[in-house]
Amino acid sequence: MTQLLEVKDVTRRFGGLVANNAISFDVQEKEILSVIGPNGAGKSTLFKMISSFLKTSSGEVLLRGERISNLSPHVVARKGVVRTFQESTIFKSMTVRESVVVSHHLRSTATLGGYFLSTKSARKDVGDFGRSADEILQFLGLYEMRNELASNLPQGHLRALGIAIGLATNPIILLLDEPFAGMNHDETMRTVELVRAVRDRGVTVLLVEHDMPAVMSISDRIIVLNFGEKIAEGSPEEIQKNEKVIEAYLGSEDDAIGI
Ligand code: ADP
Ligand code: MG
Repeated sequence: MTQLLEVKDVTRRFGGLVANNAISFDVQEKEILSVIGPNGAGKSTLFKMISSFLKTSSGEVLLRGERISNLSPHVVARKGVVRTFQESTIFKSMTVRESVVVSHHLRSTATLGGYFLSTKSARKDVGDFGRSADEILQFLGLYEMRNELASNLPQGHLRALGIAIGLATNPIILLLDEPFAGMNHDETMRTVELVRAVRDRGVTVLLVEHDMPAVMSISDRIIVLNFGEKIAEGSPEEIQKNEKVIEAYLGSEDDAIGI
């Protein structure tokens, strides 16, 4: 296994609150690594620091040995570390297909100025992006609704569109923060398969998720946070019988970890 990402002693404070306290772990190439923990444990904060949406108070995040923390999110996205778009940031005034085509610009070979002037290379990209967008839409089961406005999509499909937009940027690592939230059992199972298929395409997946059966079935490894501390790390089997983890979940308002 090859190490892809290294999170080193990452701490984040909000005033007096320590949302992440000296968190360290690494991520291997092509694994599905989940971060779990009760509400407020610091999972989203951790993801935001990995994708540079938030600065670290101390510590650093390295991608193949190169620091990517405390840069700007678009620079980190260009390097291949992409947080999926939340529903609120999907371009809802565009059609499903348009929003996926546009998202390819992040890996464009032509300059953005070139797009507007329609240079030869920009025209080539638009053709390539269209083909790639159609392929991604088919892959995610969104092709039939490619001409719908994104704002008309039901919840489950909107979530899939968020993943499509993430994939269109050609990520090395895709960070998914609660991709199954609000989904029924069937939608969750379908999305689990999808996430697996994304990994099988060669993308490393970092996942924050509450749905324990889904997390246990999909993850290669799990990191557990509680009150900003990393309390456990291991395989799904190890995590399910870890005393500290069981205690953390029993003491919270979340469902117990047992499945
Ligand atoms: P999780 O995703 O595990 O539910 P978060 O990372 O969202 O947890 O939050 C961890 C803690 O940090 C919580 O106590 C939350 O209230 C706090 N927090 C998160 N973001 C901010 C912020 N921008 N300003 C102040 N406090 C924040
Ligand atoms: Mg969160």
